[in-house]
Amino acid sequence: MPKKYIPYGKQWIDDEDIKAVVEVLKSDYLTTGPKIEEFEEKFAAYVGAKYAVAVSNGTAALHAACFAAGIGPGDEVITTPLTFAASANCVLYQGGKPVFADIDPETYNISVEEIKKKITNKTAAVIPVHFTGQPCDMEEIYEIARENNLIVIEDAAHALGATYKGEKIGNCRFSDMTVFSFHPVKHITTGEGGMITTNNKELYDKLKLFRTHGITKEPDKYLLKTDEPWYHEQQMLGYNYRMTDIQAALGIRQLKKADGFLKRRREIAEIYNQELPRIEWIKLPFQKDDRESSWHLYVIQVDEEKLGKSRKDVFNYLRSKGIGVQVHYIPVYWHPYYQELGYGKGLCKVAESIYKLIISLPIYPAMNSEDIIYILDELYYIS
Ligand SMILES: *Cc1c(COP(=O)(O)O)cnc(C)c1O
Repeated sequence: MPKKYIPYGKQWIDDEDIKAVVEVLKSDYLTTGPKIEEFEEKFAAYVGAKYAVAVSNGTAALHAACFAAGIGPGDEVITTPLTFAASANCVLYQGGKPVFADIDPETYNISVEEIKKKITNKTAAVIPVHFTGQPCDMEEIYEIARENNLIVIEDAAHALGATYKGEKIGNCRFSDMTVFSFHPVKHITTGEGGMITTNNKELYDKLKLFRTHGITKEPDKYLLKTDEPWYHEQQMLGYNYRMTDIQAALGIRQLKKADGFLKRRREIAEIYNQELPRIEWIKLPFQKDDRESSWHLYVIQVDEEKLGKSRKDVFNYLRSKGIGVQVHYIPVYWHPYYQELGYGKGLCKVAESIYKLIISLPIYPAMNSEDIIYILDELYYIS
């Protein structure tokens, strides 16, 4: 075991967070109490959306968004292969078919031209993923979506606080819904947790029903008229995807620190941006200048020829030094489950070739300068 261990990402919990959680534990509501609405309101205000719906995790948020979008059997939904499996699995949950469009070789985000090529008369939606926190070409994607009558669901699990053309991701200016995750490696955490934002009241109502079995307790929404005081009504098949008040209390506290976390992530990214060009086998992440990444991940590409070593050699070396590098991501359709469904290798050539060379370096607010210097030293040493 090496002395030091620096993971690629990690939460930051302070005493105030712990106090907020303990207060809920002593209160009347552990779940579906006042903290949920408060978290939703504050989150919606933070990203600039009209509505927010808190759910049990980011995957549930994606599932709920696909449900609200009306995805069903026979529908195709376009997404990127360079993402966490959940971005595509959510389509399968609804009986739809994920269709993978290749990525832009510079930003690693889904390519607008490739989306166009994949549209058929069965395409119902597109799920762009803001990979590493750099926003996708949302204006262009939204325009194609409007022309082809597609729903746009942004997977912003990496992108809390990121801005696109001066506005925060999550305000749904160029989408119907945006989905966030509060897993501990993400920008803010609730242990497990997720959120969907939207400006559309109809989608908002569907998301809320879906989160709690499809059951409503709001009399003005009942399909059957009754004066039974115990009445509540299941109107569709939903799930129990609720977030607890314990989690929401933590989320409210974490959200207060989101700007500070983001600032620190950007500082660390800036240090990497300044220092890494001195290492000639490293290709830096490319950033477009009309958007600001939230730097969930810092992904470098290894030039194996210049280095004379493989990506795997670099990976193993850094791990042996206690640097918890990771690879984001194995192309989704390379997984045996997707291969079994009939997705062939070679489907998205750019994503596959970039996947073979990338490594995610540690980046998270609690990293200190000693950690960064240690990582940089080990990277220089490889060269
Ligand atoms: C983390 C993540 C998810 C899923 O979020 P969970 O809260 O872990 O379910 C979805 N998409 C992307 C791109 C992610 O990084």
